[in-house]
Amino acid sequence: MTQDFDVVAIGSGHNGLVAAAYLAAAGKKVLVLERNEWFGGGVVTRSLTVPGFLHDQHSMAHIFIQANPLLKNDELGLKAKFGLRYAFPELPMMSVFEDGQTLGLYRDRDRTCAEIAKFSQKDAEAYRWLADKAAGYLPMVTASLYTTPAPLGATYALMDQSREGRELWRYMQMSSHDLLCSIFENDRVRMHFARVAGENLVSPDEKSTGFGAFVFVGFLEAFGIGVPVGGSGRLTDALIACIQSHGGQVLGGVDVATVISKGGRAAGVRAVDGREFGAKDAVIGAIHPHDLGTMVEGLPPEIVATAEATQISEIGCITVHAALEAPLKFRAGEHVRAVMIELLPVDYDTLRKSFDRLRYRELVDYPLIGLGSLTMFDASRAPPGKATMHAWDYVPYDRADGKSWDTAKDEYVARMLEHMGRFIENVGPNDVIAYHSDSPVDMERTSSSFRRGDLHGIASTTYQYGAHRPTPDLGQNVVPGCERLYLVGPFQHPGGGVFGAGRAAAIKICDDLKIDFEKVGVRQ
Ligand SMILES: Cc1cc2nc3c(=O)[nH]c(=O)nc-3n(C[C@H](O)[C@H](O)[C@H](O)COP(=O)(O)OP(=O)(O)OC[C@H]3O[C@@H](n4cnc5c(N)ncnc54)[C@H](O)[C@@H]3O)c2cc1C
Repeated sequence: MTQDFDVVAIGSGHNGLVAAAYLAAAGKKVLVLERNEWFGGGVVTRSLTVPGFLHDQHSMAHIFIQANPLLKNDELGLKAKFGLRYAFPELPMMSVFEDGQTLGLYRDRDRTCAEIAKFSQKDAEAYRWLADKAAGYLPMVTASLYTTPAPLGATYALMDQSREGRELWRYMQMSSHDLLCSIFENDRVRMHFARVAGENLVSPDEKSTGFGAFVFVGFLEAFGIGVPVGGSGRLTDALIACIQSHGGQVLGGVDVATVISKGGRAAGVRAVDGREFGAKDAVIGAIHPHDLGTMVEGLPPEIVATAEATQISEIGCITVHAALEAPLKFRAGEHVRAVMIELLPVDYDTLRKSFDRLRYRELVDYPLIGLGSLTMFDASRAPPGKATMHAWDYVPYDRADGKSWDTAKDEYVARMLEHMGRFIENVGPNDVIAYHSDSPVDMERTSSSFRRGDLHGIASTTYQYGAHRPTPDLGQNVVPGCERLYLVGPFQHPGGGVFGAGRAAAIKICDDLKIDFEKVGVRQ
């Protein structure tokens, strides 16, 4: 071994950094190794276009991490000591329909109801019911997100014991579409919430997606959407500063090839260039289940085979990051100022059919474009008077027309911008100073988590959920056959998104090392 540490983390994604930061705060000698020359994986802010413009290459909206004790109680001092700051705009999400109508989802329930009442008074009342239910479920939801998941069988058995539990279980099995049709009468209102389900890379018609509506509304009302001041990558910066303040190191340009296992226990890692880094206590690995067998020596074949059989979503993502001459001018009016803005057709079935096309690896007829222009809330990201835009659409990884994304990407971006022109006055060639785009293939190149352009690493389905995510063997963040190896990533519970879920791995490691997790961090 060239160098020895207590804990070595493979990958500087925010989940690996969170786990490493807790261990560093617990007094461990920590090293984080990152393949890229930049840090943060999906939580990164980069100058992708022209100088002066900052773009969140992947995540931009920090929603689910807000309830994590990491931030809620500032357990590592990321806010108090390491400069992390959030803006929480009053209007987290707005749907803009092609005919210029809009529907905003505010943190304030009365304002949301007023928006929904533009389409249906009855649906405005139904939203109060949905939001009440969501608020009731929220404590249970948040209690389950930032620790290792409870066993699924026991969870379902518990639900089965009460009327409320059985009702919850039913919502969990319904599709978003079925649930929304049972709650709302108006198609625009249904579409507005169905698009939220789509943000999880699933069609609203996918079974077992219904409960997402309760989770989203519950979070939105209680916490809003956090926009990190300075960019998504400021979370990464704060985590790195925290690790370094405790004597830890974070190294870029180190591509880890193998977890070294001695006597069935992780003992360190070997980089592609041959360097070895010893880990006395633990290795934290952002290892996609499809890579587990090749990266970890000597695992039981059945563990590897089930990991390799995990399924990836059919729906990939393409993004466009633009440096703009001026703030966006929506044809619907100046009131369109939300963190997430969804550009929607006038007819709900058009949206549903677009999701259907993706099943067959076809390009959608009607683009499913969402966008954020966070200079609306954080002027520091662009020169005075200018703006940025982050737009996304859903596409297949393998195209049915056989074209490669590397050659056909710009053609697709031109189509996206043209479509956006129906909603926005100034996204033409004279308005866009420069753009950077990531196809699903590029996304996979930026992080091995985003396999085939799946933002969540693997599909979010019932059989890859909770303690069974990514597989029943690996759901507790540990790897049978290789002790002291702990997995982090969007393919682990609770799934893709900025959750700060590395906290669960840190709890597990602390348990194994007989460290009292409750005493780690600023609580000391
Ligand atoms: C386009 C896009 C938009 C998104 N938008 C949002 C959003 O707005 N809100 C939200 O909550 N979520 C969003 N997400 C999802 C979110 O970004 C991810 O789920 C999250 O960042 C995953 O974090 P992670 O730490 O688990 O993994 P990653 O961020 O993927 O980090 C893993 C890191 O490990 C490194 N690595 C892997 N293997 C090795 C190796 N062998 N050697 C060295 N380094 C290695 C990778 O290079 C990477 O840096 C988005 C994702 C994408 C792609």
